[in-house]
Amino acid sequence: MERTELNTLGEFGLINRISSKFIATNPETIKGIGDDAAVIDVGDKYMLISTDMLMEGIHFDLSYTPLRHLGYKAVAVNISDIAAMNGIAKQITVSIGLSNRMSVEAIDELYEGIRFACESYNVDLVGGDTTASRSGLVISVTATGFVDKDKISYRNGAKPNDILCVTGDLAAAYFGLQILEREKQVFLANPNMQPELTDKEYLVGKLLKPEARTDIIHELHELDVVPTSMIDISDGLASELLHICSQSGVGAMVFEDKLPIEDITMLTATEFNLSPITAALNGGEDYQLLFTVKQADFDKIKNLSDVLPIGYITQNPEVELALKSGGKAEIKAQGWVHLNN
Ligand code: ADP
Ligand code: MG
Repeated sequence: MERTELNTLGEFGLINRISSKFIATNPETIKGIGDDAAVIDVGDKYMLISTDMLMEGIHFDLSYTPLRHLGYKAVAVNISDIAAMNGIAKQITVSIGLSNRMSVEAIDELYEGIRFACESYNVDLVGGDTTASRSGLVISVTATGFVDKDKISYRNGAKPNDILCVTGDLAAAYFGLQILEREKQVFLANPNMQPELTDKEYLVGKLLKPEARTDIIHELHELDVVPTSMIDISDGLASELLHICSQSGVGAMVFEDKLPIEDITMLTATEFNLSPITAALNGGEDYQLLFTVKQADFDKIKNLSDVLPIGYITQNPEVELALKSGGKAEIKAQGWVHLNN
């Protein structure tokens, strides 16, 4: 029998291969594989379900990730996927694979973070599973949430001339990771060295303790604006924008000089001799929302302090970056590379 290496397929190729073999047959299944969360008709509302797994050595390094933060993040990234459907998360289940290296106190710490996230996002922990693991710590969280049927935002609803918006700022988590990796190498070379994190708390904080933008979902609801499409930025703006464009059958123009990048991120990019724009496009782990709104709706949200227009949707399918220097560059996905590890 022929053997195909995983990395020839990539993450999305693999997901497509799996999903092509499953066709939803229950009428309640409104949306299966392919968006930030599955959509189930439960009567007067849609229920949303999303799941994400974090693996030690792939998604986090326990040498610089406090367990409390890890617990918080495992919850927040799932709530972010519910938010990306314009929904509000209500329940989570948490499944953990534990290596025998972990003490009871360490597990307490992890659950402190989970509890803190439950409080701050107003979600209930309603179940899970516990097992032993031979390959380090594994945390898998499933979140459920709800949205009014007429308020749901899929990835596939962007229309030409819609305004493309992003929340918060980008690339901070990417440089947070570069800093922690650098300090880890310094420490490994000389264990007496203390990590040099002065002025970098913002970046490190964005990596270790990302927030789901449920606050923006509430603001959009209050202003009665429903995004025509939405996705959360886990793999980098480029990859997520390409999902919106390919699923919507449109293209986009993004303005380089509109990309929201904080000064400290810019400064740190210079320090690492890396392009802040490339990091904003491909860095990942921002957990901000990327969405499109009708031009008429943009007037209603333009005063929101943490929402920024960065471009617009086009009829032609090209996804491009309008450069500060003039000219254009094609936006390509370079996001997810875990399968190559
Ligand atoms: P996100 O980055 O928003 O979490 P992913 O890229 O992980 O989304 O997943 C995209 C879609 O593929 C989602 O609908 C997800 O539920 C689905 N998916 C991912 N892995 C699998 C799998 N192993 N089996 C079935 N569906 C999957
Ligand atoms: Mg997502």
